[in-house]
Amino acid sequence: MKRLKILVTGGAGFIGSHLCRRLLAEGHDVLCADSLFTGSKDNILDLFDNKRFEFLRHDITEPLTVEVDQIYNLACPASPVHYQFNPVHTTKTSVHGAINMLGLARRTKARILQASTSEVYGDPEVHPQPEGYWGRVNTIGPRACYDEGKRCAETLFFDYHRQHRLEIKVVRIFNTYGPNMHPNDGRVVSNFIVQALRNNDITIYGKGAQTRSFQYVDDLVEGMLAMMASPADFTGPVNIGNPGEFTIKQLAEKVLELIPESKSGLVYKPLPQDDPRQRQPDIRLAREKLGWAPKVKLEDGLLKTIAYFRPRL
Ligand code: NAD
Ligand code: UDP
Repeated sequence: MKRLKILVTGGAGFIGSHLCRRLLAEGHDVLCADSLFTGSKDNILDLFDNKRFEFLRHDITEPLTVEVDQIYNLACPASPVHYQFNPVHTTKTSVHGAINMLGLARRTKARILQASTSEVYGDPEVHPQPEGYWGRVNTIGPRACYDEGKRCAETLFFDYHRQHRLEIKVVRIFNTYGPNMHPNDGRVVSNFIVQALRNNDITIYGKGAQTRSFQYVDDLVEGMLAMMASPADFTGPVNIGNPGEFTIKQLAEKVLELIPESKSGLVYKPLPQDDPRQRQPDIRLAREKLGWAPKVKLEDGLLKTIAYFRPRL
């Protein structure tokens, strides 16, 4: 296999750190570019000794001049709490960041993969969501900085593809969890596990009847690698997620069942504005084009994530 120079933006974040580790294991040279806004060097500490790994503190809203063969564009805060902290910068990260990374891909003739999201479907009226569904997003709501930024990034990827013949790959990632999530990340899986381990009450927003489909990070990384390696004429977008759908209340109960010593109860808090009511990926395209399907069951993935957090709290 050819040894490639691969840029991972957002490589110090939750998903990016797993991806960097996996690409190094495949024998590639990895350049991780990250502003450390939500990511942390702790996630990649063990990689600093590896001579094929390089870390660059860089904000992708600024241009970057490096030589690379492939780019995985993951830089963007993903937790609603963090992407709403500086919403203007979130949109800039998706839009200016995409322009900068696509420009870099064009100059270096690199193949480039965009970490898009199920959020492009917004609060969907079609269930489960296939790639052909155009979505239902509130353009002026608090989630729009993320959702519309990611939608515009997809537009830019396809226009660079049509206009400049760039080799693009777009994956729409559904809720993903696992080790290396930040304890204060704010997303539901890490929140519930951290609360249960600290014996704090579990915060359910709304009635907990809204659904999500949770994918373990190892399955996602396999899907991203398969997508990057797929034939040039397959651009996506392709859904990468686990179709197992659960209500948020079921997730809370599952976490408590897996941490039996926890003294936590359930508390109900207001539902955030525009919180999608249901989400489940239709993964027929990924199965057909990539031969990919998730393998890790929710219970097994949660146990691994609990084992990660337990000694750290
Ligand atoms: P994360 O917040 O842990 O990681 C994002 C990383 O990007 C962090 O290391 C952060 O410091 C970095 N970053 C943010 N803005 C930056 C900028 N302007 N320049 C350089 N670096 C910047 O989140 P994650 O869950 O690992 O998400 C990674 C990618 O996957 C994101 O693009 C996200 O939108 C996408 N995604 C994630 C999920 C999920 O469930 N985890 C779902 C859909 C899409
Ligand atoms: N949620 C919750 N309690 C929490 C965090 C989140 O009930 O402490 C809910 C949230 O309202 C949403 C779902 O869990 O309905 C998933 O939220 P997350 O922030 O993980 O991701 P989203 O899919 O909304 O981007």
